[in-house]
Amino acid sequence: MVQKITVLGSTGSIGVSTLDVIRRHPGRYEVVALCAHSQVDRLFEQCLEFRPQYAVVRDALLAETLRVRLEASSCATRVESGPDALVRMAGLPEVDTVMAAIVGAAGLPSTLAAAVAGKRILLANKEALVMAGPVFMRSVREHGAVLLPIDSEHNAIFQSLPANYGGRPGECGVEGILLTASGGPFRNAPLGDLDIVTPDQACAHPNWSMGRKISIDSATMMNKGLEMIEAHWLFNVPASRIQVVVHPQSVIHSLVQYIDGSVLAELGNPDMRTPIAHALAYPERIDAGVKPLDLFEIASLHFERPDFERFPCLSLAYRALEVGQSCPATLNAANEVAVEAFLGGKIRFTEIARVISETLDAVPVIPLNSLDDVLAADAMARAKSAGIVERLPGR
Ligand code: NAD
Ligand code: MG
Repeated sequence: MVQKITVLGSTGSIGVSTLDVIRRHPGRYEVVALCAHSQVDRLFEQCLEFRPQYAVVRDALLAETLRVRLEASSCATRVESGPDALVRMAGLPEVDTVMAAIVGAAGLPSTLAAAVAGKRILLANKEALVMAGPVFMRSVREHGAVLLPIDSEHNAIFQSLPANYGGRPGECGVEGILLTASGGPFRNAPLGDLDIVTPDQACAHPNWSMGRKISIDSATMMNKGLEMIEAHWLFNVPASRIQVVVHPQSVIHSLVQYIDGSVLAELGNPDMRTPIAHALAYPERIDAGVKPLDLFEIASLHFERPDFERFPCLSLAYRALEVGQSCPATLNAANEVAVEAFLGGKIRFTEIARVISETLDAVPVIPLNSLDDVLAADAMARAKSAGIVERLPGR
């Protein structure tokens, strides 16, 4: 049976890696829809190669540009635009699988739509789960969607848990999770330098090549904070049983501890095509084009405790999950605003944590029962964070 796929965020780092794995297995997958934002050139090339039924871009103007070029190349792909089109593509009746790889809160409505349509969801868009945890997981359960984690850590945890693990406390002898973190580019930088680092320095991740937003999150270690919340929702494990372990080589992608003392892990080269191929083929295995792991070349693996003083964003994420309700959505929105301000040269690297902390202090916590509640919390936090950014002295 050919697996029919919508790729949300096809022009990004995860989207491109997904299409690379699909390209290696002609006849196994059919791309039904490719969805991007503004990178029309790349989307045009992808349409010519994968011949999807639909392509989606940000607005009508970009859609017209793409339409004209596709027609001139005799490509019959239908071009649509805007957030509603993303939601439609996630729920198309002919689609089996949705790769959710839009970055940030912008990916929430379409990722949630895939859950409501009962799809097999390959979840890269961690921000959606952080913001909307209880709403999203309820939709997955109620509509029989299947959630397969793409984030390398969560994919490793998924692979290290028993197949019948249902997420009840203590089930299958699961004691806890060890969530590995590379520590990013500033793990050993002098603390004083963090005030003056540039966006390009912060994006230069030692092991992984990724989009700019998640690269900054890795440099602040907010990425690990978001992933701790993500692991909480995916595997129903309390924060107290999730230990962050700094492991600079990124070879062990995370571990599961059992009551008998066993610790199971998944290892591999840091290449997102491994978790993508795992989820695409699950429960089978397919070639991902990833170099085999050479332990002799790696020679040694290191582990350290996380440094909460250097990485205050990590503590902020624990605080947000502990408060619960809309607090993780507030954390996520403030982080998105602060990261964008840093990338745009408006604030210093060290001010990212300050913006988030002040936003958490100022924005009221509300209960989350629906997508509207999540979007309201997100909007409230964005407005507050934008005001805080404006008041900071900046760079
Ligand atoms: P990226 O910036 O490279 O790509 C983002 C994609 O989202 C692009 O295709 C872009 O067109 C699309 N997009 C952005 N804003 C949009 C909007 N408003 N509407 C529609 N589409 C929009 O990001 P990435 O590194 O591929 O990350 C994507 C997601 O996967 C993020 O949530 C990230 O945290 C997660 N993730 C990425 C990696 C990685 O190695 N890159 C690893 C783990 C998790
Ligand atoms: Mg990760």
